[in-house]
Amino acid sequence: MINAIKGLHHVTSFAGDAQNNNHFFTKTLGLRRVKKTVNFDAPDVYHLYYGDEQGTPGSVMTYFPFPNIGRATPGVGEVGRTLFSVPKGSLGYWEERLTAHKVGGLSKDESFGAKQLHFTGVDGDSFALVETEGDKRAPWTQGGVDGDHAIRGFHSTSLRLRDEGATAELLKFMGYTAQEKRGDVHRFVMEGGNGADVIDLQTLPGAAMARAGSGTVHHVAFAVENRAKQLEVRKALMDTGYQVTPVIDRDYFWAIYFRTPGGVLFEVSTNEPGFARDEELAHLGEGLRLPKQHEHLRAMLDKSLQPIIDAA
Ligand code: ZN
Repeated sequence: MINAIKGLHHVTSFAGDAQNNNHFFTKTLGLRRVKKTVNFDAPDVYHLYYGDEQGTPGSVMTYFPFPNIGRATPGVGEVGRTLFSVPKGSLGYWEERLTAHKVGGLSKDESFGAKQLHFTGVDGDSFALVETEGDKRAPWTQGGVDGDHAIRGFHSTSLRLRDEGATAELLKFMGYTAQEKRGDVHRFVMEGGNGADVIDLQTLPGAAMARAGSGTVHHVAFAVENRAKQLEVRKALMDTGYQVTPVIDRDYFWAIYFRTPGGVLFEVSTNEPGFARDEELAHLGEGLRLPKQHEHLRAMLDKSLQPIIDAA
């Protein structure tokens, strides 16, 4: 079993309009844009990162905005919902705030003993805020949401699967502990993780496979401390029969990727070096940062990428 994984690192999705995406995460949800760069594998598209002050692993939601992408068709073999942790007693505030911002899909319920508020992102993404007791992670409070209410980071993601068996085995191998099953949802928890410690597996045997589009999660990344731990994880996964990519330099972390049995793409990323690698902490996410292999495209990208205006 692997003991180097410490919870989620980031979650990456497809968006349509970059401006709407930026507005939703920075103004409606009050997160900080911690990096404005491009998709390193397709540099004509942005890669936008939103999180806490530093973009701490476990807080970072990222997007590839494709202006002409079609809407997703939900199904199995994908992430069903991404959930953020908020303080106990804060859901009333959030319900009012999201209503005032005309956010759709609002509904409240309880899951595994915690109150949650469901909502839909601008691209139809399925989200929820979960009231979490004792989440000690420091929130970003310069985004219009005060410290009594602000998002602490991820609470969890839920994966929709036709059959949970092989994915459940994988999560246990990755260091997660299986907890109870409630209805069609089986909860897995990373003990001693970074706070973004929960993965839920939802089993929907008769459902159709998902079709990707805007609002679809492209992959879920898990956190390891450093490159040595990442190599341990890579070897352990490969020894178990997984096909894992070589280590890829993403400038702000190193990444490896592998496809899980249920169809969801997993990444394992390092906490080092972080988002302050090429910008001062006070100015994270402000300018367009390009990796050195794409720096020669800057003049072209300045013209072709949709301008993002950070209105007050
Ligand atoms: Zn990633």
